[in-house]
Amino acid sequence: IYPQSKLLKSLPKQFFASLVAKVNKQISDGHDVINLGQGNPDQPTATHIVKALQVAAENPNNHKYSPFQGFASLKEAAATFYKREYNVDINPEKEVAILFGGKAGLVEIPQCLLNPGEHVLVPDPGYPDYWSGVALAQAEMITMPLKEENHFLPDYTALSDSDLEKAKLMFLNYPNNPTGAIANAEFFEDTVALAKEHEICVVHDFAYGAIGFNGHKPISFLETEGAKDVGIEIYTLSKTYNMAGWRVGFAVGNESVISALNLLQDHLYVSLFGAVQEAAVAALTDSQSCVRELNALYESRRNVFIGGLQELGWNVEAPEGSFFAWLKVPNGYTSEQFSDLLLEKAHIAVAPGIGFGNWGEGYVRVGLLTSEARLQEAVERISKLQIFS
Ligand code: PLP
Repeated sequence: IYPQSKLLKSLPKQFFASLVAKVNKQISDGHDVINLGQGNPDQPTATHIVKALQVAAENPNNHKYSPFQGFASLKEAAATFYKREYNVDINPEKEVAILFGGKAGLVEIPQCLLNPGEHVLVPDPGYPDYWSGVALAQAEMITMPLKEENHFLPDYTALSDSDLEKAKLMFLNYPNNPTGAIANAEFFEDTVALAKEHEICVVHDFAYGAIGFNGHKPISFLETEGAKDVGIEIYTLSKTYNMAGWRVGFAVGNESVISALNLLQDHLYVSLFGAVQEAAVAALTDSQSCVRELNALYESRRNVFIGGLQELGWNVEAPEGSFFAWLKVPNGYTSEQFSDLLLEKAHIAVAPGIGFGNWGEGYVRVGLLTSEARLQEAVERISKLQIFS
């Protein structure tokens, strides 16, 4: 009975809700669905991190409100992590903001920095939550196509002068969801130069920072000289440590952006459960062997799945990072038609590329988030469709 606000109604449609409904229908009809459509890590959090949570949950101090803006120990752990992993110096007091997962920070940033009607450069295809952040700030999107011929990096020379003049903020994300591409140092150097010239704040989403293949460790945007002058990086523990349900991440970088984020968050929340923050410190600072094992697991799944599809004659590229494969749709189907075909005929769920933006049409995204045996079975089911013969 209560009408929704104009702002709420302006939010982009949750495209993947319809995919979930289709998958649930298949399951309730009794089909054994191999669900590769979502981005939910299938592995558990490492035992030492769970233990750290258990111990911290016993401490009554953690039952109270935790300090506004989070524990100093977690900010210090974030700084230690950036020094150890990327040789980047971070001031834990001024250059780190604790987040309820990366998504919260990504959605909050436009509200921190933009006035209604101001413009944001957004990658297309891209993670749909950037659109939500832009809509909540009542800002406008300028899309940057990510094309295969450019290794799924935006081509800055293709942006018009007026778009560059208007843009106040830019989202980037490497390793990339959905394309699996990774960025190189030169691209980030160009990004810093562009941002300086046009006074654009860069928000680099490093959600898949720990997942890189063929021996390539993904680079942090903050490794680039001058990056901290022009932006921030959003890091999350969701993928690196299989902690998606724990809702913990942080933003690092430009002091003024961090202080704007902290200010907004002071109005929205107090801070995360203290025990979660203590467990996050353990994740970031204790042994990182679980991270290396996870990377190897995704790489071997990737090899099994992509190798299997290539043997069928499907012209697909292996991702360089993230846990997604971005597959070209064969035989002139649209991405939605092809996803429906896989679901109805092979009971395999994949995400249609159009759900990530117009430039995602012609592709489907596959999450490598099930066992090698199930991925092999998916390849067998696809081979029976005889699409490539
Ligand atoms: N960024 C990208 C590109 C993602 O794919 C995700 C999650 O799927 C996130 C950010 C958000 O992760 P979280 O909110 O769990 O930290």
